[in-house]
Amino acid sequence: MAKHQFKTEVDQLLHLMTHSLYSHKEIFIRELVSNASDAIDKLNYLRLTDDKLKEDKYSGAINIKIDEKDSSITIADNGIGMDEEDLLSSIGTIAKSGTKSFVEAMSGDAKKDSNLIGQFGVGFYSVFMVASKVDVISKKAGQDQAYKWSSDGTGEFELSSCTKDESGTVIYIKLKEEEKSDYTSKYKVKEVVKKYSDHIAYPIYLNYQEMVTQELSDEVKKANEKKDEKDKIQPVSTLEQKREQINEAKALWTQPKAKLKKQEYQDFYKTISHDSEEPMAYVHTKAEGVNNYTTLFYIPKKAPMDMYRVDYKPGVKLYVKRVFITDDEKELLPTYLRFVKGIIDSDDLPLNVSRELLQENKIMANIKQSSIKKVLAEIKKLSKKPDTYKDFTAQYNRPLKEGAYQDYTNKDAIMELIRYKSTHDSEVMTSLEEYKARADTEQKAIFYIVGDSENMLRNSPLLESYTKNKIEVLILDDKEVDEVVAPSLGSYKEWQFKDISSVDAPATKKDEKKEAETKKEFEPLTKKIKAILGDEVKDVQITDRLNTSPSCVIKDPDDPMAQMAGMMKAMGQEVPPSAPILQINPDHNIVKSLNKTEDKVLIENISHLLLDQAKLSEGLDIKDTVSYINRVNTMLGMAIDK
Ligand code: ADP
Repeated sequence: MAKHQFKTEVDQLLHLMTHSLYSHKEIFIRELVSNASDAIDKLNYLRLTDDKLKEDKYSGAINIKIDEKDSSITIADNGIGMDEEDLLSSIGTIAKSGTKSFVEAMSGDAKKDSNLIGQFGVGFYSVFMVASKVDVISKKAGQDQAYKWSSDGTGEFELSSCTKDESGTVIYIKLKEEEKSDYTSKYKVKEVVKKYSDHIAYPIYLNYQEMVTQELSDEVKKANEKKDEKDKIQPVSTLEQKREQINEAKALWTQPKAKLKKQEYQDFYKTISHDSEEPMAYVHTKAEGVNNYTTLFYIPKKAPMDMYRVDYKPGVKLYVKRVFITDDEKELLPTYLRFVKGIIDSDDLPLNVSRELLQENKIMANIKQSSIKKVLAEIKKLSKKPDTYKDFTAQYNRPLKEGAYQDYTNKDAIMELIRYKSTHDSEVMTSLEEYKARADTEQKAIFYIVGDSENMLRNSPLLESYTKNKIEVLILDDKEVDEVVAPSLGSYKEWQFKDISSVDAPATKKDEKKEAETKKEFEPLTKKIKAILGDEVKDVQITDRLNTSPSCVIKDPDDPMAQMAGMMKAMGQEVPPSAPILQINPDHNIVKSLNKTEDKVLIENISHLLLDQAKLSEGLDIKDTVSYINRVNTMLGMAIDK
């Protein structure tokens, strides 16, 4: 027998399990039953491909045994089983990143936290909420040696060889004193299984002992009538072993839609998602014709915790003719729909479909395309209900933006579903359709501004001429995504997307003669400023885009590097710094006075300040903070001396 130390994260987790999570303890049954069902799924699949395992007949089942006298509950399956290596890596150390983030995400609110179990794949450890000791006895299919893993959930576990007839896993749970009455009660266990695991595709049997009183035969009854009370023959009670199937064991998605109730869909969602909340929406489709398949998709109320992790767990399981194939295939739906949970069950794919085959398979590609359309159509339905859609947007706007960027085929459909902050209304987000409907008949473009902070964007000098001309601008403040996605969108229903930091200001009625005059009047000044700022700016121009601010910076519309910077950064490329164009407002007092003065120090200081303040108001870094402060102080000094 070998003793092993739990890895730190496991230890932390176990501590949390045993000390912090008081509510929903019953979910340990759901977690272990779900593991058992996965193990049977895996063996079923293996039997399709592995000749050694093909021969004998097999039917998967889960057995739960309660023993009041022993204070124990045992959950057994005849699935794939685990060998020594599996036991060490699956339930001794935590190879998976999930547990670590679970521990990090624990908020201390016990109720909420227990809802997180499972989402993170730390399901097995939930057993220590009720167990004082756990033995896992397991034999892997196709192997001879069985192993036993034991732990009381404090710091270490033991691993040793043992014997076991059938392949599969037996989890023996010695209950804590205070949990004994609940989990050795057949009523309680039945109730929990019904609640969470009714649609597990395999039968779940409950095994228990019951006192059974034998009926007296008619003869004895008759004889008893003639006897005195004390001489009467008493009926005998014996302890009998009972076995009862306690779940429906039907794959819900195979049943006709008309027969299924909302409640059943919701319950099924909970069994596949480990989520304790109802889903936001679901869509169940049976396709018949060229391809025969069933899909059942759910949109969770809350985005999965691992949505922004590279190693996120895909939410869709693939079945072929009711046989489970995989739950670890990220290609079943596009990555931007990774929050969707559910089932794809195809009648046409070969049962031994490999991962490589899956990715090139025409049938799979068809199913994927129509699945995308189904899910997007369902989201569109949600978008008709403003309250629900607000919640949806809060959770999933960002993945949809990724979708508009990644999925060219469905770009317009996806863009219709995205909601944007805008200058039209600071409280309500807008759709592109609404934006278009509000726009002037002359306007054939969608204007936007990208940055980090909503507040800064709303106060950007670049907006001034748009505000003056009553042109709505989208405020894209999810910079990480928007900076990459927005420039790549091109157009929406023939309306071009335009970044207001690089396009010309919208035209108010232009007086070309006056414009030429102003330009001429300010030319000496723009030249002087350019000479002072040197490489820090591409050019210095006068502009009519500003109203109250003296200056602003824009990206050079002719510089592809400046335009692509966001996208290149997202692809991990070095982006060479590209200097902006400084634009100044000829109607502003500072600029007007600057044009008249000959004071070199003043011109020098103000030129730098015009650039620095313009950069600051776009949330850009300024080159030299110390000089900036010195200049401000010099100017303040001059103002006070006056
Ligand atoms: P999850 O089920 O989310 O992966 P668990 O902590 O519940 O997380 O289980 C960890 C791993 O241990 C499983 O992924 C599986 O490989 C293995 N395992 C757990 N229970 C069983 C079982 N009954 N049969 C076979 N393997 C199991």
